[in-house]
Amino acid sequence: MANDLSSQALSVTEASFAAPDPMNEQYDTIFYLIRQTTGASHVAIQFDGAPMQAVPVDLACIQAPLVHQGRRIGVLRAYAKEFESGAAHMLAGFAVLAAEHHALWSVAHCDMLTRAMTRRAFMADLGRAVATWQRGGVPCSLVVFDLDHFKKINDTYGHAAGDAVLRAVAHVVQSELRPCDRLGRLGGEEFGVILLADAESAMEIAERLRAVIEGTIVRDYPVIEFTASLGVATCTALTDTRETLMSTADEYLYQAKEAGRNRVLGAVSIPEFELFD
Ligand code: GH3
Ligand code: MG
Ligand code: MG
Repeated sequence: MANDLSSQALSVTEASFAAPDPMNEQYDTIFYLIRQTTGASHVAIQFDGAPMQAVPVDLACIQAPLVHQGRRIGVLRAYAKEFESGAAHMLAGFAVLAAEHHALWSVAHCDMLTRAMTRRAFMADLGRAVATWQRGGVPCSLVVFDLDHFKKINDTYGHAAGDAVLRAVAHVVQSELRPCDRLGRLGGEEFGVILLADAESAMEIAERLRAVIEGTIVRDYPVIEFTASLGVATCTALTDTRETLMSTADEYLYQAKEAGRNRVLGAVSIPEFELFD
């Protein structure tokens, strides 16, 4: 059963180029030490709010809460036919280590204001997506978008309202994306989206994002209207690195601003039916 679980975890990691999830290899060392010191055959972290993991039914289980800044964030579990003496105590110590590790990982990977990926983590994932495309795998497109006249929102409604807009935008865009797509905050009011999609699909998705951003309602504030301009680039022989992909998308974004904002530009056009929906 323990083997079944580890193969499940492996397939999750393989299926996703980014794998920013609790089961990725960042906990390998901690899990290894737990197995060595407690006699566990299988170790897992279940973060609160994450999909429930399968549990081995024929093994004994000990667990310790993961606590960060006084708040429970998940639970560390170890499974074994038989545990070494003092195993529960050891596991509690490792839970402290795992929670600290997770906190550091979050700071490096997750933008605190919007919960989108940090630029650094996003660029690493973009590199992985481009590498996968180069190996003849999945198509890969990049959408970059920047909120239009955002300075005016801050000036009119205050900085806190500007922050609320950024949070709301990240939320609505994330809700539009598939689990394999990635949203990152590239800086200020500029975001990036990695789409495992070809040029036409990427343009359609970008147009959908433009529309949902325009329709975003910011809770707890009077009606704040805003839009975004978007640039789209897709991996081709000419754009075959994350840098060329980024500069191409940036160039289209710049052109979208120049052309009047609140629009999507890329190498291909958006299908007519999308525009007049
Ligand atoms: P454009 O349509 O050309 O993009 O105009 P813009 O006003 O959006 O662009 P500009 O670069 O002139 O202004 C960006 C503003 O975004 C200025 C900056 O204060 C604000 N900003 C950057 N980061 C944050 C943030 O985290 N929170 C808030 N509230 N504002 C931010
Ligand atoms: Mg802007
Ligand atoms: Mg900007």
